[in-house]
Amino acid sequence: LANLKFHPEPSVVKVGCTSIGPKTRTIMAGPCAVESNDQLMLIAEAVKKNGATILRGGAYKPRTSPYSFQGLEEEGLKYMQEAGKAFDLATICEVVSLEAIEAAVKYVDMIQIGARNMQNFILLKEAGRSGLPVLLKRGLCATIDEWLNAAEYIMAEGNPNVVLCERGIRTYETSTRNTLDLSAVPVLKERTHLPVIVDPSHATGAYRYVPPMAKAAVACGADGLMIEVHNNPACALSDGPQSLNFEKFARLSKELDPFWKL
Ligand code: PEP
Ligand code: MN
Repeated sequence: LANLKFHPEPSVVKVGCTSIGPKTRTIMAGPCAVESNDQLMLIAEAVKKNGATILRGGAYKPRTSPYSFQGLEEEGLKYMQEAGKAFDLATICEVVSLEAIEAAVKYVDMIQIGARNMQNFILLKEAGRSGLPVLLKRGLCATIDEWLNAAEYIMAEGNPNVVLCERGIRTYETSTRNTLDLSAVPVLKERTHLPVIVDPSHATGAYRYVPPMAKAAVACGADGLMIEVHNNPACALSDGPQSLNFEKFARLSKELDPFWKL
């Protein structure tokens, strides 16, 4: 179902008031985690002003340590819906369980399957039945074939609205949080009609590397980007070191302009 051979036209996936596909200039931006209603409103306003089309924010956080902030859960989803409505942004939230999917369908426009759950086949099937478009992140150690098979799991349940997100893979390199595999973009474009976006925030783990890799991602054919943005990265409850503040996000958005036209 994901194979370009049987579906030669690139797919455009509708997400709330916007869509993702060729020439859509999709930017999903927002905090790693929804921390409060006020925080999310501030961020939503700032990213909307600077070209974002989709508001991202985690309400269920799959954290490495069980003692780290785990997310506001359903309350966070409600804030996402309010902020999306207030600033005319589509919304996306990660789901980590069947209960989270049930809650998410009530409040957001798209669900995200995170890297850690890329081969959680029960979750993939449930996402396929949710009726919502799905952003499928590449697993930490997944090959492109494994990733496309994961997409197939979702699509086999009757949900054609899948978008792939390259977010870096584990290698022996430790200078960045993960190694951004940008060659996945042209490889995927040869194999699948599904839209492909790139997340330089989780890939690099450092805000300084986000702008150059975002530009490179667009230059090599990505249909969109996912960027973590925070009103005060130093105090973020998660992923502060890789989050752009409003000024840096605004600058990046302007600098991306010529790259989208390539
Ligand atoms: C996220 O988007 O906040 C996230 C946890 O991403 P990943 O699954 O790519 O680590
Ligand atoms: Mn994050």
